[in-house]
Formats: sequence, structure tokens, C-alpha cells
Amino acid sequence: MCQTTDHKTVRRVRDLLTLSAESQTVTARGWVRTKRDSKHLVFFELNDGSCLSNVQVVFENPTPEAAADLARVQTGASVVVSGTLEPSPARGQKTEIHGTALTVVGEAPADVYPLQKKRHSFEYLREIAHLRPRTNTFGAIARVRNQLSFAIHRFFQERNFLYVHTPIITASDAEGAGEMFRVTTLPPDAPPKSEFGDVDFSGDFFGRPAYLTVSGQLNAEIYACALDRVYTFGPTFRAENSNTTRHLAEFWMIEPEVAFCDIHCNMDLAEDFLRYLLSDLLQNCSEDMEFFNQRIQPGLLDTLRVVVDSAFHRISYTQAIEALTSSGRDFEFPVSWGADLQSEHEKFLTEEVYRGPVIVTDYPREIKAFYMKLNDDGRTVRAMDVLVPRLGEIIGGSEREADLSTLERRIEECGLNRDDYWWYLDLRRFGSVPHAGFGLGFERLVQYATGMQNIRDVIPFPRAVRSAEF
Ligand code: ATP
Ligand code: MN
Repeated sequence: MCQTTDHKTVRRVRDLLTLSAESQTVTARGWVRTKRDSKHLVFFELNDGSCLSNVQVVFENPTPEAAADLARVQTGASVVVSGTLEPSPARGQKTEIHGTALTVVGEAPADVYPLQKKRHSFEYLREIAHLRPRTNTFGAIARVRNQLSFAIHRFFQERNFLYVHTPIITASDAEGAGEMFRVTTLPPDAPPKSEFGDVDFSGDFFGRPAYLTVSGQLNAEIYACALDRVYTFGPTFRAENSNTTRHLAEFWMIEPEVAFCDIHCNMDLAEDFLRYLLSDLLQNCSEDMEFFNQRIQPGLLDTLRVVVDSAFHRISYTQAIEALTSSGRDFEFPVSWGADLQSEHEKFLTEEVYRGPVIVTDYPREIKAFYMKLNDDGRTVRAMDVLVPRLGEIIGGSEREADLSTLERRIEECGLNRDDYWWYLDLRRFGSVPHAGFGLGFERLVQYATGMQNIRDVIPFPRAVRSAEF
């Protein structure tokens, strides 16, 4: 058991700050953020990750023994402190601890401890990802991720969705959603070759090429076509060779899939979902959200409240193209019907034309995946992307093609092999139903909710091109 404290008597800082201070004896522990000395007083700020705020600890006229311990207390040190909880005369805090006993559990020598009082750049903090959770920003992000994860499950559970665990290793290049990472046990220096000189995967672990999944969707469809409504929430991998502020090689994705649901019910679900999550966050992480509003993205709270309170705009891809071309704006990537929307176009639509989230539907079939339901016009598919200001695409989804022969045709058009999808086609062969779903990138959501600029700063240990330490 713990040698330094009895767990039962330790109070978390979050509770201490809201307790009424009636000189009760308390014990707290955590990491020291800052320390100040004056003649007979030693102050330090203690944080234990339970909330953004620190609790102030004051030692008045410490005994020589306590003074010796206090001398070892520096920014970053871990301590256990006992004392009485008293009303604080200082501004911005209700209570403080008047220390009577102190244990320095682990020192953090100031000459070598990398996190000192000054504000460090996010670039620098990425290099010390093992210490950055000890900062205000990264502590707040960890709590926001936790709150959102919990709310995601609650949202679906309240609506009778089943949580389905889809595989991380996959043998199908599911949807050509992105470049895939290969999973293999073949020796990299001399893999077995076929008579044609290419790698022979028959001797590989799975007896065939295998990859890390880019999406759980196809597997989720299998379960939706039996259990009606399901969702996945797991890691996804894309060997994106792009160094953007919104792409990771490993990210978490939430993918609901709903039977007996068309694109309209899918849009309603996506909109309800985002509004629910943001509203929950504003309510239950208010201190952290206030911090992001003040220090990271001024105006953040106002924009999120508007999103929670108003309906999203819904336009077709064709209307989006018209809005972009008639704007007279000079875009880096030219706009024309048939070309995919680039991030600059998505930002323009959400920030300048509609000033809020926009759902764009019915994209040209050439730029979307084979499984999206073909519209009657034969040119467009029932895709729906949710775009938000500052970020662009946050959700990508569609109504799925439920007609067997159309789906077979689309698979071939997309240059894929029908035999590889025999099980996926079976879902249309036996008891086919209209169904729809979408993927929400968890880190994009966290980015949007916190106003953080770079997606590498909203995941604890980012994996991106040329970056995978820790
Ligand atoms: P984008 O066009 O922004 O690269 P995409 O169209 O490739 O995204 P989808 O295949 O539709 O993305 O994936 C669904 C969702 O997953 C996206 O809306 C986004 O929120 C998220 N996402 C996709 N790629 C990444 C990535 N590399 N890193 C983080 N999130 C991602
Ligand atoms: Mn997409």
C-alpha cells in the first residue's frame, strides 16, 4: 500500500476549493506549481489534476524541521501536505490550507526540471510530452477528452445504441479512405517473393496482406444490419503523409451506424450528437472551457453556445459550389463542380457564408467512396459532411447503398475487386435495409471544442509523420 498517505483521508483539490472552511483538518497531495517565500511565510500552489485551479498552501513561522522540508519544495516537486482548511484572504479562491505537516515525496531540482513558471510554446511542450500533462493547458485537455468520451457513450446508450468493438487489424482496404499501415511478421530485409518478384504474403501471419484499420464502418454495418443501431469508438490509423494541423496518423473515431435510417435521419443524428456533446462540455467542464476561452481562443464560448442553440445549415454540394464561385473570392484551389472541397473552401463556407456549422450533402460520385448510396440523378451520392468554422470537416458520413446490383456496379467502377467484398454484398443479398452512419474524428472534436490550433496538442501522445516518441 501507499507508504506516504492513507487514501481515505486525502482530499482532492477540486473538493477542497468548494468545501466550507471551518478549520477542518485536511490532507492533500500533488505537484507543486509555484512557490513564494516571505519573512515568516511560505506559500505554494498545489495541483493534483482534479481541476484547473491549484489550492494554495501556507506555512506560517514553520518549525526548523518544516523549514528544512520547505526548502526542498520547488516547482514540479511532489508533496503530501496536511493542515487546516481556512478561508483565503487572497482574491480568486475561497479556501487555502494552513500547513502543519509536509512530506516531500519527490524533488524536482530547478536547474534541470524543464517546466518552470514561464509559459512554454506548444512546440516545445510536444518535445516533452511526458511532462506536458502537468501544465494548465494539457491538464484541461485531458479532462475535456475524458468528459467528451463519457458523454459520447452516454448519448448513444440513452438512445439504445449498442457499443460494438470493431477490429484494429483488417484484411480489406476498407474504403480507400486513406493510405494504410501494413501489419506483417515477414522479415523486412528479405520477405519471400513470388515468381513474379512481388512479396508473397501467403506465408505471412494472416496468410494475406493485412493492415491497421482506417475505419470501423464496414464492420459496424454488419452489426447494424442485425442489431439496428450500433456505434464504435476506437483507434483508427491513416498513413497520411501530410503535415497539416488537423491530421494524425493515429486518431480515435466514433462511428454510429443505423438501420432503417436515410440521409435525413443521419443528419439529424449528427447534429443532435454534436450539440449534445458541446452542451455537456459547457455545463460540466466550465472551468476548463473558461480557460480555453481566455487563453487559447477568445470568443470560443460564445461560438459554441450559438452552435448548441441553433440548427445547422444544410446545403447540397452543388449549392456549395455555387456559393463559392459566386463569391468572387480567389482560392488557392480552383472551384468547379466535380472537384473536392478543400479546407480553404470549407472554412470560407462556414466562417463567411453561413457563419456556423454547415452540412453539405450529395457530392459527385467520383470523389466519394463506393458504398455511398447513388442518387436518382446518377451523378451524385448521398454523402454528408459536417463542416465547422476554424476546422472544416469534422464529420464524414453517408446513407449506404442498399441495392445489391448498384453496389456491385459501384465496386467495379471504383476499381475494386467484388470478391473481396463478398460478405459486405451479402448484407444487401439477405434482408437488406436502408442504413446510414458517419464518422466523427474525436481529436477534431476536441480541437473544435477547445480552440486548440494543432491536432497534435489534443491527443496525449501524437503519432504523425516523423513523430512517434513517448
Ligand atoms: P479530411 O478530408 O479532413 O482529410 P477524410 O474525408 O479523409 O478527412 P473521413 O474518411 O470522412 O475523413 O473520416 C471521418 C472523420 O475522421 C473526418 O470527418 C475527420 O473528423 C476524421 N479524420 C479523418 N482523417 C483524420 C486524420 N488523419 N486525423 C484526425 N482525424 C481524421
Ligand atoms: Mn470525409
